[in-house]
Amino acid sequence: MLWQKGRRSDNVVDGGTGSDSGGGGGGGGFGGRGLGLGGMVILAILGLVFFKDPTALLGQGEPGAPSAQVQQQQQPSKPLDTSDPQVDFVRAILGETEDTWTAIFAERGQTYEKPKLSLFRNGVRTACGSASSAVGPFYCPADHKVYLDLGFFQQMQSQFHESGDFARAYVIAHEVGHHVQNLIGVFDKVGEARKRGASLEGATGLSVRQELQADCFAGVWANKSQQRKQWMQPGDVESAINAATAIGDDSLQEQSRGRVVPDSFTHGTSAQRVKWFKAGLESGDMGKCNTFAGNL
Ligand SMILES: [Zn+2]
Repeated sequence: MLWQKGRRSDNVVDGGTGSDSGGGGGGGGFGGRGLGLGGMVILAILGLVFFKDPTALLGQGEPGAPSAQVQQQQQPSKPLDTSDPQVDFVRAILGETEDTWTAIFAERGQTYEKPKLSLFRNGVRTACGSASSAVGPFYCPADHKVYLDLGFFQQMQSQFHESGDFARAYVIAHEVGHHVQNLIGVFDKVGEARKRGASLEGATGLSVRQELQADCFAGVWANKSQQRKQWMQPGDVESAINAATAIGDDSLQEQSRGRVVPDSFTHGTSAQRVKWFKAGLESGDMGKCNTFAGNL
């Protein structure tokens, strides 16, 4: 991916460093450090929460309930180090999501409100509660921010053997997809449906439907940004599909428990994630992303 072609966004901010109040990474510290002793076991458990942004929990009237909470002392943020190539990459991708979604919203007669993207280390406090790096990238609908720990990209490489830059772009685009859902009222509708008794959990629950729509929106972004930038290269789509496959609920569960338990699905199976990403990628049309009706 020729990501250097991307316009750098000014909305990437330094989210600071959340350090465990106990320090030193002992005693169940969840801060992303001290993974030496028993680290393999811890990583295997984290595999379950990996890539599972707590959006489903956060947006549904359960204030401050991320899936992994930590007691932290938040260090004050500092100016963003824009010379860091990883920071530069995130700014380029976020900038392209801004331009793409601004154009799509304009076609719909709407105004796109650009989200902030907070780069943090170890842990972070948000309007949705405190979260550690263990929850993976996530979106907080209450403060309209995407949260991302750069260490996550390294873990993508070590755990899923996926180091492609387009796969990393897909992860960012998925979280921005949740922001789009927030702007067009999907979070509100999901909340209303829940009040009427619709289930959040399970293989056909609202959570899976909402996540698969975010995958589809990531595909719409990929389609439109490619038309604008001509920046995709051979292997890029495969790289994103490889990531989408690796992070399906069934794959993660098989990896960590050795069996698949559909009732606990929150993001959809690998095949479903690939299917909906492709639906957006091939059409470039949000109208093809209605995951709330019909078969998944
Ligand atoms: Zn998500």
